[in-house]
Amino acid sequence: MRICGSKWLQSFRRSFFIAGIGIALASSLIAQSPGTGEAYTTYHLPPDKLAKAIVLGRERLFLHFGFELWGLAVLWLLLASGTAAKLADWVARRSRLWWLQGGIYSALLVIAVFIVGEIPFAVAGHAVSLHYGISVEGWGAWLLDMAKALGLAVVLETPLLMLALGLMRWDWSQRRYWLWFWAAAVPIMLLGTFLLPALVEPLFDTYEPLAQSHPALVRDLERVVARTGTSIPPERMFLMKASEKSNGLNAYVTGIGASKRIVIWDTTADRMPEDEILFTFAHESGHYVLNHIPKGLALATVGMFMFFWLTASLSAWLVRRFGVRWHVDSIGSLPGLTVLLLVVMALQVATEPITSFASRHIEHEADVYGQEAIHGIVADPQRTAVAAFQQLGEVYLDDPDPNKFVEFWISDHPSIQSRSTFAAHYDPWAAGQTPTFFSKP
Ligand SMILES: [Zn+2]
Repeated sequence: MRICGSKWLQSFRRSFFIAGIGIALASSLIAQSPGTGEAYTTYHLPPDKLAKAIVLGRERLFLHFGFELWGLAVLWLLLASGTAAKLADWVARRSRLWWLQGGIYSALLVIAVFIVGEIPFAVAGHAVSLHYGISVEGWGAWLLDMAKALGLAVVLETPLLMLALGLMRWDWSQRRYWLWFWAAAVPIMLLGTFLLPALVEPLFDTYEPLAQSHPALVRDLERVVARTGTSIPPERMFLMKASEKSNGLNAYVTGIGASKRIVIWDTTADRMPEDEILFTFAHESGHYVLNHIPKGLALATVGMFMFFWLTASLSAWLVRRFGVRWHVDSIGSLPGLTVLLLVVMALQVATEPITSFASRHIEHEADVYGQEAIHGIVADPQRTAVAAFQQLGEVYLDDPDPNKFVEFWISDHPSIQSRSTFAAHYDPWAAGQTPTFFSKP
């Protein structure tokens, strides 16, 4: 609902939407057109929370762009200082096997980027989150999570870098290594999305069937499911024990095919009024029913094609331009992997508005779906949605008047204010209006 997944999933998901802009632009022009009807008071904060939200908004902004720029700076410095080349020489002396060299170099590179490039901003981010009472996770538990994330990064990214190195070295794939890499990345992405809920997410949080502790809630959610006309069986509804770590509210859809499921945080299940949980669930059902994950994967397949082609072109240019100074003879060398990683990260930063835009589009679609799906189940869908956004905004201290440029560049959801205002005005069952996803009786 808010972030629809973990931070790791979020960045994973982001890379899925690179190609989404054209479609998103066309349909959002239709979807964003304001409805008519009586407006309720939309999102607002009391003065003390408002003051905090404004400061927190600035801090989040600094952390976000600081994190991105610092990550790029670390990779650039590794190259410009000659460290990337020296490390390659050191690794080359340890083994003569190119794949073993590639594996050791890649793992060390991933570890260095994680520790130097990510940890400082992650520490600052966690401190800020604790300060505002959004996170309640102690530093010990948090460090353990970071250690797991580092392990995961090494396990997942090292083979990918080794594969890239192999493709750049083998005669048959050398010329179009990016195309071969793309051909391999698509099934890996599908498999990763399939395995995510079963293998990766339980590393960080505890999940249990929602029916185990909230059988009455499952029965009510089944009413929403019945209205969507699809089958989301109770076995696919999970409760995540988020309250040990966070005061935040969230729910999300994850997995694909047989692993696809809806997850609701226990904070949401225990602290939100029932009608608002139904709306939150209906929003998630929207992602589920409207096949947002498969559509995202399809867009990502197209997007990655362009992304990898651009990566190869830019990397080659960087090696031509700075290769002598950085002691990098070719992109298909060990230090060449550092150049490749630098370009991947730079392009991720540069394409962020596209992925954010596509994400905001599907989130808006899910909002519309959610509000329509609870029609006839809760007394007043508009009021319910506005109340849910109010609670969500207060918990996360979202600025009621966020900077428009920042929203455009980095927000993967429309602002709480615009979601709330849309909900207050959206009454498709009013005379002369037509629902988008349901039909009037
Ligand atoms: Zn969502």
